[in-house]
Amino acid sequence: MEQKDRKKISIVISVYNEEKALAEFYREARPVFDALAWEYELLFVNDGSTDGSRRILEELAAKDRRIRVIHFSRNFGHEAAMLAGLDHASGDGVVCMDADLQHPPECVADIIEKFEEGFEVVNMVRTRNRSAGWLKNVTSAAFYRVLNGISDVRLEPNASDFFAVKANAAQVLRRNYREKVRFLRGYVQNIGFARTNLTYEARPRVAGESKYSIRKLFKFSINTILCFSDLPLKLGIYSGMIVGFLGLLVMVNTIYEWAVHGTPNGYATIVVLLCFMFAMLFVIVGIIGEYIAILFAELKDRPIYIIHDTQNMEETEQTDQTAGEAARK
Ligand code: UDP
Ligand code: MG
Repeated sequence: MEQKDRKKISIVISVYNEEKALAEFYREARPVFDALAWEYELLFVNDGSTDGSRRILEELAAKDRRIRVIHFSRNFGHEAAMLAGLDHASGDGVVCMDADLQHPPECVADIIEKFEEGFEVVNMVRTRNRSAGWLKNVTSAAFYRVLNGISDVRLEPNASDFFAVKANAAQVLRRNYREKVRFLRGYVQNIGFARTNLTYEARPRVAGESKYSIRKLFKFSINTILCFSDLPLKLGIYSGMIVGFLGLLVMVNTIYEWAVHGTPNGYATIVVLLCFMFAMLFVIVGIIGEYIAILFAELKDRPIYIIHDTQNMEETEQTDQTAGEAARK
């Protein structure tokens, strides 16, 4: 059935507790993918789901050889799941998408068209996100503003975790972007290559709940800023200069009080200055601590993900270490 000369697209789908969405995803996406101009493989990465997702994926893999599944040993996060997908994708192009049908499967045909036109990186840009509340939309816009303001990278505000790369760009991502604190979507936009954007309208989640709480997103945003910018580290220099200047003002004022009235109010001045100085210092120490945490994670070099078992995959089980080494060769 398979024609050897046809190109193949690897569709990577990260799955974390998606038992309610998976069957629907397969039912709706299968006919769409069957009609694609390219051959395809569905690479599901089960990111340590604790619900029935594993069983559903096992059943799907048993009846469809084009479905390949990687099961992680525990939850490693969406970013790790996408990286595992990139590591194990064998196609001429790789698409990363969600399992909840928020990323319309129909878009894959347009992506292939772009690949055929010669583009190597396709960014999927959301026009509207009907399922996210206003708070998520506002904070997301603010986040991109800050990030673009303080780092030297330019990120598309509405880019999503829905993107596609050709094999050569995928190779760069899997070889050179294995940082422990990662923001894959940011790298996709900054590796160069012939890049284009496609727009899509994010649909409401087909079933289940979003795995990203506001708290998780906040943590994620802070990490991303630390990843892409070293401006916070320089905060110490700026605040030092500001505090020094304020100190100078206070000194002038103290001398004036002493010369005119003979009794400067030393106690109040000292308390105000101490509070101010310590607040500033602790914030800066905290920021440095965050960077050290990232350095520490990098230094320990623990695996980004650990594979428990796989289905319909020729290779034997491997952690990202061995996958990374293989990719570097
Ligand atoms: N996901 C994952 N690991 C996680 C969290 C989420 O693999 O730790 C998957 C999830 O199953 C989904 C995709 O990543 O396919 C995006 O998550 P979600 O839809 O919850 O995020 P949202 O679309 O609401 O931003
Ligand atoms: Mg989603």
